[in-house]
Amino acid sequence: MSTLAIDYDDVVAAHRRLEGIAHWTPALRSATADARTGATLHFKAEHLQRVGAFKFRGGYNAINQFDTRQKAAGVIAFSSGNHAQAIALSARLHGIRAVIVMPEDAPAIKIAATRGYGAEVVLYDRYTQDREALGRELAESQGLTLIPPFDHPHVMAGQGTVAEELFDDVGELDTLIVPLGGGGLLSGCATVARARYPNCRIIGVEPEAGNDAQRSLASGKIVSIDTPRTIADGAQTQALGTLTFPVLQAHVDEIVTVSDAELVDAMGFMAVRMKQFVEPTGCLAAAAAFSGRVAIDERRVGIILSGGNVDWIRFAELISSSQGGT
Ligand SMILES: *Cc1c(COP(=O)(O)O)cnc(C)c1O
Repeated sequence: MSTLAIDYDDVVAAHRRLEGIAHWTPALRSATADARTGATLHFKAEHLQRVGAFKFRGGYNAINQFDTRQKAAGVIAFSSGNHAQAIALSARLHGIRAVIVMPEDAPAIKIAATRGYGAEVVLYDRYTQDREALGRELAESQGLTLIPPFDHPHVMAGQGTVAEELFDDVGELDTLIVPLGGGGLLSGCATVARARYPNCRIIGVEPEAGNDAQRSLASGKIVSIDTPRTIADGAQTQALGTLTFPVLQAHVDEIVTVSDAELVDAMGFMAVRMKQFVEPTGCLAAAAAFSGRVAIDERRVGIILSGGNVDWIRFAELISSSQGGT
């Protein structure tokens, strides 16, 4: 028996739970992208997923496995990002209560979106209040179940369904390139790739400003860093999880980093050439392919576009400074 938090069967089971509920997002092609890299690229379009990011898969898979008592009390999550909306919508689809703890200076649009899915938003002051303590207190006093954004077996298995669909659609790949924050998406996708195509090279991509995962895999223990300054706000994690790390150690071949400038260039390419609205974090894998940080010449490559939630004015400001996808 495996000592890892998840194996391939867990992902297959998650995919069955998500059937008819999560979108089976398309795998996009671009002749221009192929010409630019000399590879055959398949872009898995998770920015077109419900709530605009793959996190819906993990959130739904976790809540779907709640027992009667957990369903009666509800779910709690801390997040100002895509996980908040994923939990809020998943709870609503199950008819259960969701409490989302967010910093009071989170973008108003994100607070409104989370409330729009029917969640109760509890705001805290990130400078004076301890989020963990507040969450624990709420969870204990009200019997709520905490679902973390990546370090949970049901979340990791749910995220792996992204790769399951991609392989079903396009078959064997030489290389799979995946955005990386806390490692939920990469651990799930790596589990699938290793089981289905043992020779597929599995690569995680994190922001250059926060290469904690690269250092963790190199040193064999989880390295923690200060919150990195990067436009990839979905990957500003300080450390891998205790469940995700061993899965990455077992299956991942390499971690590479990309700069914010490379992310902006990839966003511009996605928008102008491929007509796709992808958030900075969602472009991590594409940026690694376009910038040559990963050797992909002549190879069949899967690239995960992980999300599309970015304020459109900010999006326009960022891509107006890029080359527009040359
Ligand atoms: C959360 C997130 C990531 C990182 O996922 P992890 O499971 O934390 O590694 C990447 N892209 C987007 C759009 C995200 O929301």
